[in-house]
Amino acid sequence: MADYRLLTNATLRYLLETGKTSRGSGSKFARNWALVNHMTGQHAVVAAEIAVSLARAHRTRLRKGIPSAIPYVRKRFLRTSPTTFHFDIDTGRVRVSLRSGEWCSFFVHVAPYHRERLQEPGVRIKQLQVSEDRVALFLERQVPEPYPPSSLVALDTNERSMDGVVVTSSGTEATRVEYSDIPQIQTVHFLRRRRLARKKAHDRRVARRLLRKEGTRERHRVRSRLHVLSRRFIEILERHHAALALEDLSRVPSPRRRGPGARGRWRGPQLRRRLSSWPRRELHRQLEYKAQDHGVPIYWVNPYRTSMTCPRCGDIRRPRSRVGPMFTCESCGWTLDRQLNAGVNVGRTALRDIAELEGLRLDLDGLSEDARRPRYPFEASTGHGRSGGKGRERTQGASEGEPCE
Ligand SMILES: [Zn+2]
Repeated sequence: MADYRLLTNATLRYLLETGKTSRGSGSKFARNWALVNHMTGQHAVVAAEIAVSLARAHRTRLRKGIPSAIPYVRKRFLRTSPTTFHFDIDTGRVRVSLRSGEWCSFFVHVAPYHRERLQEPGVRIKQLQVSEDRVALFLERQVPEPYPPSSLVALDTNERSMDGVVVTSSGTEATRVEYSDIPQIQTVHFLRRRRLARKKAHDRRVARRLLRKEGTRERHRVRSRLHVLSRRFIEILERHHAALALEDLSRVPSPRRRGPGARGRWRGPQLRRRLSSWPRRELHRQLEYKAQDHGVPIYWVNPYRTSMTCPRCGDIRRPRSRVGPMFTCESCGWTLDRQLNAGVNVGRTALRDIAELEGLRLDLDGLSEDARRPRYPFEASTGHGRSGGKGRERTQGASEGEPCE
């Protein structure tokens, strides 16, 4: 593993020094390096891919003016393709080729859940990653073609809920997917961390360890809630043959990019903490891969001005007047909950731009009637959220047996 890290870093350095960006030149260098150091050549191909992508991310950050240190891999690890290892699903034995004629093997615990995932039809093991504390198998499988949608759920992502509309052929309904327990969990953990930091202020070593533990615990709790939520939500969409439209977060300028002197409202430390700990990207990531898994069509909409536009007359309000729980249009008198209104605009853009959604129309007049009590999509009541299992994308197991270096 130490050798593998060296290989990756050597390739990375080569790429950055020569300014080469292609996979080909990276893997050529890595192969030679592996040959000189008597490593399996196939390892070099994957290591080169990692190095190329690290170098690319570094260059992108530099281009965008985001501060970026020269990247290198700190932890010892090994990632490799199926040609160089063998995994026995029954015993959990993994054999990895190190160099010609030399193999190493170790055992991992295979839980029933892992076994089930691995034996699903169409699932193929794509890569193996061994790091100091875990072993992960990356799986690949075919995803079903998205079905032609018969309705659309358009949502804007907010701190405590996703709000928007359900557009079906029979009408438009205001809708809300709530997760107010997530900011609550985050507040609990934030307060706990602050108390810990104060209490252990005299011992930085202990403080750091305890704080890290708290952070991990919080992340796991939030992520597990999100998994339950996204899985349930996508299953409902699938049952109703609905498409999903969300705002494309990558088009929102990140707060980091705003340097001193840049325009934008001043944000206090509390608001900044809330915004940066807000797991909307994780939520979107889960929704995206689960939608693909279930064949649910998902569309990303440019969120530019969704919170300021009037969906009825298209009038754009000045950013200053945005504050307040209700959106009110000065030209036509349209009034709606601010968060719902942003979701309506996401839906409006999706219906305008996406050909598959032809035939669906936004019915704004029916909307304001029931906007006071938005419901969970396609449901009569709003009770949801606690039951169901977690979905994990990759198989993990603690490594046991002899270390492999
Ligand atoms: Zn208007």
